[in-house]
Amino acid sequence: MQTYRYPPKESWDQLTTRATADYAAKLPVVEEVMQNIRARGDAAVREFTTKFDKVQLDDFLISELEIANAESQIKPDLALAIRTAANNIRTFHEAQKTTVQKVETQPGVICWQKNMPIEKIGLYIPGGSAPLFSTVLMLALPAMIAGCKEVILCTPPDPSGKVHPAILFATKLCNVKRVFKIGGIQAIGAMAYGTETVPKVHKIFGPGNSWVTAAKQYVSINTCSIDMPAGPSELAVVADISANPAFVASDLLSQAEHGPDSQVLLVTTEESLLEKVPAELTLQLEQLPRKETAASALGHSRMLLFDSMETVMEFINEYAPEHLILQTADAHTLAEKVTSAGSVFIGHFTPESAGDYASGTNHTLPTNGWARSVSGLNLDSFYKKITYQEITKAGLQQLGPIIETMAEAELLQAHKNAVTIRIKK
Ligand SMILES: [Zn+2]
Repeated sequence: MQTYRYPPKESWDQLTTRATADYAAKLPVVEEVMQNIRARGDAAVREFTTKFDKVQLDDFLISELEIANAESQIKPDLALAIRTAANNIRTFHEAQKTTVQKVETQPGVICWQKNMPIEKIGLYIPGGSAPLFSTVLMLALPAMIAGCKEVILCTPPDPSGKVHPAILFATKLCNVKRVFKIGGIQAIGAMAYGTETVPKVHKIFGPGNSWVTAAKQYVSINTCSIDMPAGPSELAVVADISANPAFVASDLLSQAEHGPDSQVLLVTTEESLLEKVPAELTLQLEQLPRKETAASALGHSRMLLFDSMETVMEFINEYAPEHLILQTADAHTLAEKVTSAGSVFIGHFTPESAGDYASGTNHTLPTNGWARSVSGLNLDSFYKKITYQEITKAGLQQLGPIIETMAEAELLQAHKNAVTIRIKK
């Protein structure tokens, strides 16, 4: 890790910048795939699956029998763990439901707002080095709780043309009815435009590599909504003298093992941690199966030393980390000072992996500084809000002149007339 002692504010801009993939360079390939899918549907999806995933598939849809049998293919303790995590995620997201509030803004003028579930949802679960069944729970449970009518899921087939049973078990728990073995750009295209077998959806959710991200950006321009801009995962740990260097190192590594492009930060006021944490990192890294991945992520990660916790928090808010762990004696007070972060983990016994899997909060969070303006996934991500109003005759008599005056001033006579004609009646 690179070490920075008391970096001056002029350098913060550079210190809060993450390396990002060049999405623009990927657009020509994305465009070609999309045009083919729009023109030739399933046939094109099949071709690109052979080309990119090296698998020949006749049928993308996973049978109900295969989904029903998935539980018997995984260990009972894993099935129990997935069930427990699902319960916590369900409980936390259920609590985000709101009730309709009718507001009388002035006598006889009643306005209200209602959440309407987005009807058709497409979820994307990447394949690659690990089966991300946890992401199935994080995306599908809120969709079901929100009441989305049609939820479909795409995930790439492995070289033998199969999907990991833990992913299928999670889809069953979440009641996802249709799961397709389609990955990458072609999955995003199939869900955005629809094919003979894959229905067209209104919003696409889910992580993916830079190709998937480029594909989501492409379809979001004029075809369907997407969840949020996605980038490599990040973690910042704020620590003081009370922090256990071994705990801090374990958290940094848990994020570093996500991918070689992950970024982790240690931000501290305690000089001694700049030696104790790297020593722990070396020790723990040796034991990890994914040590190469974690090591290369650590290579471009940073340790920053500041003179006070005020400066630490100022830096953190400017960086706007996806995940923020506060391992300090006064973690609660610091938590109050957070203004930009995806998710905050308070105290020495709250590892970030709790939020990744099982505590209940969502693990789909804004990266690359987007936490300055964007929220992580929550129940609202699956709704659109519709406003309603109803005005009584007496109410319009009161409000009417106000509307008439404003319409006239904006030179919109027909707007004024729509009021006048009623008041005169
Ligand atoms: Zn993680």
